[in-house]
Amino acid sequence: MAQVTIDFGIDLGTTNSVISVSRNGEIEVIDNAQQKATPSMVFIDKKGKMHRGKSVMSQLGRPSTAVDVALEFKRVMGQDSPHSFEAAGRVMSPEELSAEILKELRAAAEHRFVEPPRAAVITIPAMFELPQNEATSRAAKLAGFEQVILLQEPVAAATAYGYQSESDKAYWLVYDFGGGTFDVSIVSVRDGQLAVVKHGGDNYLGGADFDRLIVDQCILPSILSQFDLASMTSSGGDDRLTKGRLAVLRPIAEEVKKALSRHDFEEICREEVFDDDSGTPVDVELALTRQAFEDMIRPKVEASIEMTKQLMADKGMSAGDFEKVLLVGGTTFIPLVREAVSQIGIPVSLEIDPMTVVSYGAAVFASSQRLPKDLIDAAPVAAGGASVILEHELVTKDPTPVV
Ligand code: ADP
Ligand code: MG
Repeated sequence: MAQVTIDFGIDLGTTNSVISVSRNGEIEVIDNAQQKATPSMVFIDKKGKMHRGKSVMSQLGRPSTAVDVALEFKRVMGQDSPHSFEAAGRVMSPEELSAEILKELRAAAEHRFVEPPRAAVITIPAMFELPQNEATSRAAKLAGFEQVILLQEPVAAATAYGYQSESDKAYWLVYDFGGGTFDVSIVSVRDGQLAVVKHGGDNYLGGADFDRLIVDQCILPSILSQFDLASMTSSGGDDRLTKGRLAVLRPIAEEVKKALSRHDFEEICREEVFDDDSGTPVDVELALTRQAFEDMIRPKVEASIEMTKQLMADKGMSAGDFEKVLLVGGTTFIPLVREAVSQIGIPVSLEIDPMTVVSYGAAVFASSQRLPKDLIDAAPVAAGGASVILEHELVTKDPTPVV
């Protein structure tokens, strides 16, 4: 039976990207290199070789390569804001970088199903406007997708949670705290379709800010006092060496941050992360309690809650008007964030993994979207036979209904 619906859903995220597929009514989040989340990172080495996704993580181990890694390019999607890979002497636009991530996800799907997908539903933030949407569509074409449907991230998340059109008066709140951005949206059903009725957020507030706080408040004071790193302070963080060193320290901070979502205390020691100005190898030793971490991030978490309450107030709504609030984005793993959201007073839903829920919902939506006729691979027709294509509105998600 030929595939007649798009079936593939992609969350092209600022920090991580995920591809899922709908098969026989089930959603599968597809692994890429044994991980569901593919880091939205690109690197070109000095020999000109392109690295995408997880394989870029190892480049973050040395200042000289870490400084050139392209990340968070989604923030400048559709803008004239190219990234320069100095060592390789190449420059790429946010759109081209996004295309590399989409190629990586398409290859993961090909690895899983032999054939690469020809069409996909790709999610976009509610705040994206025409230039960003068009850049996303062009990135998909560059990556080899022949057809793309764009879907708003909060709509995808609500779809994953099975927002039913019967509950016509219900409103859901989607609280999406990712790595690079914070987005909050009010979703409703209008004319049987899910719609974002109002959205807010901060394009420069995310989990990466928490990593930076740990670097600034814990790691730097400690290594600056023990090693000869005067150049880091005198440059104001603005030269390539300092930028590279900071890029090496951030993943160490992130590791501690993630561990503190599970434990009350975390301690790590990384030996010889780079050399100081006199050539002595620098060791990073970091011990942090959850309590101290929470004190550090509390103002930023509170800012997200204030934005959420403001959005509700702007719409003239209060907690009682909402059926539920969905937790989306990796930063919602942090216990303090969950606690702060629950205090808004709306029942919290967190059954679906917040890192993959957007792609999951995109795949659910994709299973209801027909492939254009020219993209349907007709089954081979025996000599003397004829091929019949039946066209009708989709009435079921069953790909092989009994006629
Ligand atoms: P984006 O939408 O920006 O692509 P994601 O939803 O993938 O982001 O979230 C990535 C962010 O979530 C990163 O900052 C990462 O450090 C953070 N994160 C992931 N897992 C955890 C965890 N267990 N505890 C705290 N933060 C986490
Ligand atoms: Mg996201």
